[in-house]
Amino acid sequence: MLGVEMKRRTFLKTLPAVPLFAETRLGGASRGAYGSQTTGGETIGLRVEATPDPLLARVVAILKDRIERRCPSRVAETDSDARILLTADDSLPPEGFRIEEAGTAVRVAGGSTRGLLHGVGKFLRTCRFEGSFQASSWRGTSAPHGSLRGMYFATHFHNWYQVAPEAELARYMEDVALWGVNALMVCFPFITLRDWEDPGTEVALAMTRKYARLAKDLGLQFGIGVGNTLFTGAPESIRATRLPDPTRRRGNSGHPICPNIPEGRTYILENTRRLFQELAEPGLDFVVSWPYDEGGCACEKCLPWGSNGFLRLSRDVTVLGREHFPKLKLILSTWMFDTPPEGEWRGLSEALAKDPGWADYILADSHEEFPRYPLESGVPGNLPLLNFPEISMWGNWPWGGVGANPLPARFERLWRDVKQAVRGGFPYSEGIYEDMNKAVVVQFYWDPDRSARSILDEYITYEFGPGVAEDCHALVGMLETAAGLSYMKQPVDAREAERAFELAEGIRGRLPEWARRNWRWEILHLRALLDRERFAGGGLETPAAQAALTRLVEIYHCERVTDDPYHHRVRPPLRGLSTRGKEL
Ligand SMILES: [Zn+2]
Repeated sequence: MLGVEMKRRTFLKTLPAVPLFAETRLGGASRGAYGSQTTGGETIGLRVEATPDPLLARVVAILKDRIERRCPSRVAETDSDARILLTADDSLPPEGFRIEEAGTAVRVAGGSTRGLLHGVGKFLRTCRFEGSFQASSWRGTSAPHGSLRGMYFATHFHNWYQVAPEAELARYMEDVALWGVNALMVCFPFITLRDWEDPGTEVALAMTRKYARLAKDLGLQFGIGVGNTLFTGAPESIRATRLPDPTRRRGNSGHPICPNIPEGRTYILENTRRLFQELAEPGLDFVVSWPYDEGGCACEKCLPWGSNGFLRLSRDVTVLGREHFPKLKLILSTWMFDTPPEGEWRGLSEALAKDPGWADYILADSHEEFPRYPLESGVPGNLPLLNFPEISMWGNWPWGGVGANPLPARFERLWRDVKQAVRGGFPYSEGIYEDMNKAVVVQFYWDPDRSARSILDEYITYEFGPGVAEDCHALVGMLETAAGLSYMKQPVDAREAERAFELAEGIRGRLPEWARRNWRWEILHLRALLDRERFAGGGLETPAAQAALTRLVEIYHCERVTDDPYHHRVRPPLRGLSTRGKEL
């Protein structure tokens, strides 16, 4: 499940050595860079007018950190002369915020502490940091349209999510929460584990608990995927019947179990129960029941899987889950339903009409276009609809291997078709290189009518500084065009690739020091450089390309030598790297 196009996945047995250099760089410009400037900087007074709680302390720390990394000012709490006020206002929607003038200060009010966190995100993105700090001039009240604004971190293949140091993960999760994310999903990789005694199982549990803790510390909901794919060591006698899969898009990954064999059903539920017990602390807020890719059974009793075997198993798992987590929400995924058509959508609608109340959301999507059924015939059970946009793999290989992969036009086009119906979702993410896509999609969930351009305006000014938005939009457009042509196996115009790199160089020369050292800028600049080498130069073997790939390997914490047979999917194609002794 959740592997999308993956045949299999693997999981960590050992963590790689972490290049310290990349760790400090990923945090944005290091504090040390401002040592001398801070001495002469002003002090910005901050007053907090809300009942203290751990998340509030975190919000204050995030606000201070992001300002102090961008300008020589210091932020200090004060009772008088504050320029920034943080306050609670329970007349606001819980996740909403308001930014307003209060005398000479600017007040950020949140409907809850997490509403305040999202408000601080808007505040920070609309402040200016050049020369001296200028508090946000944005005014208004804002609350999210979509109720579940998630991210799915695919924690596998020794990608960044699997191997980055915890401090980087925590910081990155702060950044996505500032953009409005309120839920995180990861996968528990039964697919590569033999049983509970497998040494990898405890490592996988520890990682899942770590993500749960990081999410909950930020007030985010946390969940995992569940299904009928369990350990590789499951007995042969209970294995599922292989799916026909004539379109080859549903996948036949893993070792799915047939829930209509009585011992199979017992095996699934007992191992799922054990997983729930193992995750009792910090606990689960939701599970996503997943039908295909890893999962499915084509036996006579299970077909059609989506509206029959899968549906009954999902209901059983929901009942089981609520024994452990009484408020557990169930998200029923319909990924790749009716591919080929076999009445799964209609069957689901009929089943939920007869037996409503156990599922909380319907999730729908496919590899490419959004399925028509829920848009044209209504969402089964009249439940809120979520999507699962693929923001990571389209138009680039290896994923993130040549740097940033911004695709704002693509996601705006896909969003236009579904925005009337969709109330949130879980973008599928393989790493940090599609950070711009994350900001775009989560802001669509927040405000369905917002344009990708306006979102990226905010992103560019906040992350790269003022005065470069027009050129950055042009650069992103050129990189997206190149990715699209490359995906269609059409030639990329060499002059355009040259121009994109020249544009990137021009922008770079105008960036403030803190932005030039920001990994977000680095991966965008490296992408422009690598596109020039690929499409207008000597290819990825040139010294300039190899240096750029080396830097990406550092930023992503990739393993230069690995036993992970899938690591090359997320590792830049630098010369001399190996997988199980071979260069892939
Ligand atoms: Zn079956």
